[in-house]
Amino acid sequence: MSRRNRVDRADFACIHCRQPVPGRATGTRHRNHCPYCLWSRHVDNEPGDRGCGCRSPMAPIGIDVHKDGEWSVIHRCTGCDVLRTNRIAGDDQELALLQLALRPLARPPFPLDALPVWTGGAWGG
Ligand SMILES: [Zn+2]
Ligand SMILES: [Zn+2]
Repeated sequence: MSRRNRVDRADFACIHCRQPVPGRATGTRHRNHCPYCLWSRHVDNEPGDRGCGCRSPMAPIGIDVHKDGEWSVIHRCTGCDVLRTNRIAGDDQELALLQLALRPLARPPFPLDALPVWTGGAWGG
């Protein structure tokens, strides 16, 4: 068990971008995603327990905003499709978080210029 604890805090290489990631992060007790590309790895059943055998990379797919304004990253496991939300850490790259948050706005599933233009009157009038 003590070995597990040591591994938990150790630096690791990101499963996605291969950057070295410090095991300790400010603002969270459990470093669970890369601060550079925000990818994670499916190792927990409960946050920090490292009890899941899946071990597949987890892709960041969106941002969840809490009532208090705090952000979490929504991850989807590329192996088993499970969804997880993970609080952002103090050293997560703001640009990576913004890219993730703006992704649906940058790529709307419909053409923006096809929307009706509101002219100040009633719709369709
Ligand atoms: Zn990374
Ligand atoms: Zn998984």
